[in-house]
Amino acid sequence: MTQIYDLHCHSNASDGALSPTELVKRAAEKSVTNLALTDHDTISGLAEAKSCADELHINFINGIELSAQWEKLGVHIVGLNINPETESLHKIIAELHIMRTERAEKIAQKLAKKGIPDAFAAVQKMATNETITRVHFANFLVSQGHVESIPKAFDNYLGDGKIAYVPTTWTPLENAVQAIQKAGGIAVLAHPLRYKLTATRIKKLLSAFKKAGGLSMEIVTGRYNPDEVRILTNYAKQFELTGSVGSDFHSPVNSWIELGKLAPLCKSIKPVWELWQ
Ligand code: AMP
Ligand code: MN
Ligand code: MN
Ligand code: MN
Repeated sequence: MTQIYDLHCHSNASDGALSPTELVKRAAEKSVTNLALTDHDTISGLAEAKSCADELHINFINGIELSAQWEKLGVHIVGLNINPETESLHKIIAELHIMRTERAEKIAQKLAKKGIPDAFAAVQKMATNETITRVHFANFLVSQGHVESIPKAFDNYLGDGKIAYVPTTWTPLENAVQAIQKAGGIAVLAHPLRYKLTATRIKKLLSAFKKAGGLSMEIVTGRYNPDEVRILTNYAKQFELTGSVGSDFHSPVNSWIELGKLAPLCKSIKPVWELWQ
């Protein structure tokens, strides 16, 4: 049987629109055979997703997407095939949740100064666990009629440098990679072209990631074009990293990004799943 992998997506345990069960059901409808749930800084959706995946005969891989700091830049490290019952993972998640809560309070204060009160209470209520993301604020701003869409909420309020933007120093890249390794997982550099880095800086990031113990990088994601896949394939070869594929699906509203709708990896690249299969 043809295997369809999707190793990066979100449920409402972080900033996705669907519950873990709804997400896995959608993956099954889209013929995904191997699915990793990778919510931002939380593992709280994994048990529900796994039990639904077992029922639907989808091979489920426990995952997470950690927010990490590399130099002055926030980067995302996906952990695949992690054991969720790991102390060091719980510790880093708890630290990140504190950072997220503190940031959320500051974002709410900035919004209050602009005449938009009570955002903190609203996003706390929306977030089903402690992972409060900017998407929760975006939903709040839409629901209150301040903006008409989530992208507009980022453009006008929440995006980098915008009026309610609060810079955060996440956990160091090395700590994120180590926590994933201690949980028996594979660290994957998420969407390397989304950080808007020059080629020199991407290579510096890949080198730091590899030195920290990173073993893989995303090559095919939901919004990549063929040129970008080619560039990333070359980086993976140069840095001897395995390749991962993931849609970064968040919501059915973005119809151009769909679970399992991904180009194949180039045959010359070792797929990340060979590291655990
Ligand atoms: P956070 O991790 O709390 O900073 O939130 C970042 C999340 O916001 C990302 O994972 C995306 O899901 C979402 N996001 C970032 N920028 C945009 C944007 N311009 N439009 C819509 N969603 C965005
Ligand atoms: Mn997100
Ligand atoms: Mn990401
Ligand atoms: Mn993601």
